[in-house]
Order: sequence, then C-alpha cells, then structure tokens
Amino acid sequence: MGFCGGVKRAVEISRQTADSHAGPVMTWGPLIHNPQVVGRLQDSGVQVAERAENLQGEAFVVSAYGVEEAVLDIVRDRGMKVVDATCPVVTRAHALAEALVDEGYFLVVVGDHGHPEMVTLKEKLGERVAIVQTPAEARALKLRGKIGVVSQTTQSLENFRQIVGDIVLRVKETKVINTLCPAITVRQEEADKLVGEVDILLVIGGHQSANTTRLAEIGRTNGLPTYHVETPEEIQPSWFGADSVIGVMSGASTPGWIIERVLLKLEDIRVAVDA
Ligand code: SF4
Repeated sequence: MGFCGGVKRAVEISRQTADSHAGPVMTWGPLIHNPQVVGRLQDSGVQVAERAENLQGEAFVVSAYGVEEAVLDIVRDRGMKVVDATCPVVTRAHALAEALVDEGYFLVVVGDHGHPEMVTLKEKLGERVAIVQTPAEARALKLRGKIGVVSQTTQSLENFRQIVGDIVLRVKETKVINTLCPAITVRQEEADKLVGEVDILLVIGGHQSANTTRLAEIGRTNGLPTYHVETPEEIQPSWFGADSVIGVMSGASTPGWIIERVLLKLEDIRVAVDA
C-alpha cells in the first residue's frame, strides 16, 4: 500500500521546487494519477497545464513517467527551469529499450497506448518500435528478423507473459528484457495471493491510475466482488456482509492519508454492523 519510491520522489521534488521558487511551478498534465494528491500540490504552488498556452511560470517539473520533447522545447523557449522527476526505473527501462534497438532488434513494447511512458519511448525510437496493449494486437503484428521485447514499467505481469509467449514462438530470435517495475510486480503478486483469502477486494487509487486499475482487474478476473475507490466517500456499506472478509490494497500513487481515511471508514461500517 501507499506510494512507490518513484511517486514519493516525484511528489517531494515538486514540493521542494515550489518551495524554492517564488513564481508558478508547472507540470504537463497531472504529476501522478491521483487527483487528491495533485490538488494538495496545487495548494503548495504546483500547477497543472493541459494546454501549451498555459505553460507559463518559473519552473517546470517533468512527471515520474517523463514528458514529450515538444513540451520541453516550449518550456525551455519560455525560459522556465526544467526539474526532472522522471522515475529512475522508467529511465532504466527506456535505456534498455534503446540498447535493444541499437543492437539491431525491432522492438515490441507491451504498454498502454497514450501512456506518457509509451509516448516518450515512441518519440525516441520512431518506426523501430511497435507498442502493443493486448495479446490480440501482438498476434496481428507482422514480425520478421530479430525481435526485442520489453514492457511498460506498470504493465500487468500476466499480459506481458502472454504476449512474450506468443512472440517467442513466432520468430527465429527473440530477446526479452523484463522492464516491469518490481514495486508493481510485487503488488500484483500480492493481489493474486489476497484474492484467495478474502470475500471482497477493495482497491484504493485514482480512477485514471493504470496500476490501480490492474489490481482491481486481478480481483474481477478471479470472480471476486471488487471495488475500485478513489476516496472513502465512494464506499457503500451495502457492499459488505456482516461476516465479509475484506482485502484492501492500493495503487502506487495512493497516499497514506487516503488509505488511513478508507480504513477508518471500514472500521465505522464494522462498528455499525456489530451494533
Ligand atoms: S511504479 Fe515503479 S516505475 Fe512507476 S513511478 Fe513507481 S517506482 Fe517508478
């Protein structure tokens, strides 16, 4: 539960940048996929720009998953200081992907279309990379020669496994590098274990957070009643029976203070049921 190392680092860097600059500090889109944390950062002076004309201020913080060069060009042209909060796990994954391409492999990346981590990788590698989100997309790819395979750091372990299994059997030479983030893999493995021990799975995290959504998918795929909530206000007492055993997990961008509020709400519901 709680922040992973990369999110914790990005949030701290943003706060420190806001503290050390008098003028506005900007990010391109939300710094992380948790609206409540982004709201608190805004209160500390870290503003979110969704349009190029709004990119004005003293400093710009690159989010944990990176940002496109076109955005950085605008920021630099406007004289803003660039502060890099890209997660080192993402930087390493990109470096490994680029090395495979340099070695002559055509690269297949298992990732979500439009995710910033994928957009920036595609920007660097262009036509030498194909991004596939599902096993069906991977099967539709025409593959020839040497194929390298890596993953978006926050992908589902099971999705990566299926796509790698398909590609390995279709081409003469495949080189696979596991670039899944260990912080994410551990949570997915914990979710796999937890679903066998509980009646209901409650997953806390931003509704736009890919890694939180994947934890909820694990619950649903295993036939468990599963609820994905961003805040305790979304929880309905009617979801739980008197004897329900509830498994609680959070995504990597969910702060401890929201988790505590969810646990307090569950305790309130338990007390009300017992009364
Ligand atoms: S989930 Fe992993 S890759 Fe993503 S920010 Fe956290 S530590 Fe970095």
